[in-house]
Amino acid sequence: MTIDHHHYVLCPHCDLVVEFADITLGHKAVCPRCHTTLAKNNTNMKHKSAIYAICSLIMAVIACGFIFIDIRIVGNFNGVSVLDIPRILFFDRYSYISALFILFVLLFPIFNLLIITLLCSKLPLSKYRKRDLLIIYKQLQHWCMPEIFLTGVLVSFVKLMSYGNIGVTSTFWAFCLFVFFYIKALVIFSPEAIWNELHSNNFALEPLKVGRTGIRQNLKLCGCCEAMLPVHYVKCPRCKQKSKLRNRDKIQWTIALLVTSLIIYIPANVFGIMITVLFSSSSTSTIMDGVIYMWQSGDIPVALVIFAASVVIPILKIISLSWLCYFALAVKRKRGHDCLKMKKLYSAVEFIGKWSMIDIFVVSVVCSLVRNQQMMSVYPDIGVAFFATVVIVTMVASQKFDSRLIWDQVKIRK
Ligand SMILES: [Zn+2]
Ligand SMILES: [Zn+2]
Repeated sequence: MTIDHHHYVLCPHCDLVVEFADITLGHKAVCPRCHTTLAKNNTNMKHKSAIYAICSLIMAVIACGFIFIDIRIVGNFNGVSVLDIPRILFFDRYSYISALFILFVLLFPIFNLLIITLLCSKLPLSKYRKRDLLIIYKQLQHWCMPEIFLTGVLVSFVKLMSYGNIGVTSTFWAFCLFVFFYIKALVIFSPEAIWNELHSNNFALEPLKVGRTGIRQNLKLCGCCEAMLPVHYVKCPRCKQKSKLRNRDKIQWTIALLVTSLIIYIPANVFGIMITVLFSSSSTSTIMDGVIYMWQSGDIPVALVIFAASVVIPILKIISLSWLCYFALAVKRKRGHDCLKMKKLYSAVEFIGKWSMIDIFVVSVVCSLVRNQQMMSVYPDIGVAFFATVVIVTMVASQKFDSRLIWDQVKIRK
């Protein structure tokens, strides 16, 4: 084994050239300027992530096949499997939400688990095939939400308790295990390690100066595989994707998408998200109605979760991203600790973004379970489609933002 291997990376958040030696077990390399984790120890990475990915896939098959939650409302029994939820939404003419559910909760995570299994197996995959798989993995990663769906199911239990008795089957526990193994596989799997097997990440033509920014050394980071490229390279030699020095025009995209989401946010709150039909009378409830109902019936923690996920997070996200755009574009004299705060804000926005989907999943679960034609049924309402669009648009807005613009005008003290 070679010791004293030196690795260079360009920090994707702040554009600093960082050097580190081989990482020992339990340690990680962190950017000294913006504290982003740059690399982890990869001992047995392939072996461990393949095992977790396979376990997760097995659990996914079990979890999709059988009824996983059921409800008993005055003697009437109704149970649904994970696959019944999108089916019922589809027949309610909410094919949009049904498609989002299938993609975000099932297809994308399962696809990514298959990619992890393939890349970590000993199959003789060609260099090109590996490259394609890594690119697809990166694209899908943002849109995998099985853990958010599971949280949504738990929240909906509290909501459903007011309708009848809920029961969970062993399939429900299989779904929990699917999510657990999925998260484990994702945390351990390192796409960088596989990229580095294809080619080293360093395409610099001159010796690198550690502790200085890439832009000052005529270097740029590939947005896809995070290789270090000379500025004049149009395409990255490692992943064959086009790369730019800075995605300055994408800030306009971020702003445009923020305005769009703000506009869609109005109908998302004005229109109802659920219609409850009790005997022959029907009533619509908006997001806020749901929160107030929960609060009044004493389920304060759940009321707070839904309020935070559906009202506070989208608004905070829109405000934070607008602030970040302002900071990146308009603030000329930037100080290091302000930039660090902004970077933390951006990481928080990135992390928390998809959690707003909780309410969509809660509505999906409640609507597919409470179906009793004679007595009580719950149907989704148009607001849910608007709200899902707000979440998706704000997620795309935060992905379009280039966080290196936060740091560009900061002087590095040596
Ligand atoms: Zn950094
Ligand atoms: Zn690349």
